[in-house]
Amino acid sequence: MTILVTNDDGIFAEGLWVLVKELKNIAQVVVVAPDREQSAIGTAVTLRQPLRVYRVRPLVPEVDTYSVEGTPSDCVILALGMLVRNKVNMVVSGINQGVNLGDDVLISGTVAAALQGYLRGLPALAISVEAVDSYYLDTAARSAALLAKWIDSKALTDKIFLNVNLPNLPLAKIRGVKITRLASGTHTDAVAEGNDGKRKYYWLVRHKTDNAADNQTDVWAVEQGNISITPLHADLLNRSTPTIPVNLCSDLLQGLQKDRELAGT
Ligand code: MN
Repeated sequence: MTILVTNDDGIFAEGLWVLVKELKNIAQVVVVAPDREQSAIGTAVTLRQPLRVYRVRPLVPEVDTYSVEGTPSDCVILALGMLVRNKVNMVVSGINQGVNLGDDVLISGTVAAALQGYLRGLPALAISVEAVDSYYLDTAARSAALLAKWIDSKALTDKIFLNVNLPNLPLAKIRGVKITRLASGTHTDAVAEGNDGKRKYYWLVRHKTDNAADNQTDVWAVEQGNISITPLHADLLNRSTPTIPVNLCSDLLQGLQKDRELAGT
């Protein structure tokens, strides 16, 4: 199996390389990622200027690595259409440092990159952790590897596009794995005004608090210390949730527990 790894935090983000290191244990990995931070760039693609691509030295040895002057979506389109054409079996985007929950999947560059894989018929995962300065990237990386292996080993009939979010907790404190749906809520639902002494400026900020009482949503699951797996699709008019085989949660939890036993924690 060959996995294309990308992100929206940029090619030198820690989350990307923790993920690559783990995925390399189960697959061949190719990295094609933006040369700089592109968070909240959404599904943007570059159509009005050329895309420059540079081969760069990987932070994990022996991984083909390309840096792109473009968006996360550009990276996946370029990889699948040119750089590693016909060689990729799955797209994994992340590990984003910061959750991508609820309505924010529509502005997330991390989720958008996975979407481009999904649109081209490949299983795709977006994976994010709660904290920006994260201490627990390892659990997310391990979860991504277990999920990738799980998807690869099943003859799944439905196309797979999963948005995975983890609380910022050590493996021992993860409560469970939940299949969720998107909460309604965004990090950019309000505007704050400031003044720099010369003129006004504005920040897009979060104002509302989430209604965490709904225990089917991704926001709830992560708040409660669970790994949230939200099956997505690209049909915005289709209200039905893609089906996920029931054993996915238990298989992932068992895999992580086995890690814990091996680590003796
Ligand atoms: Mn990001």
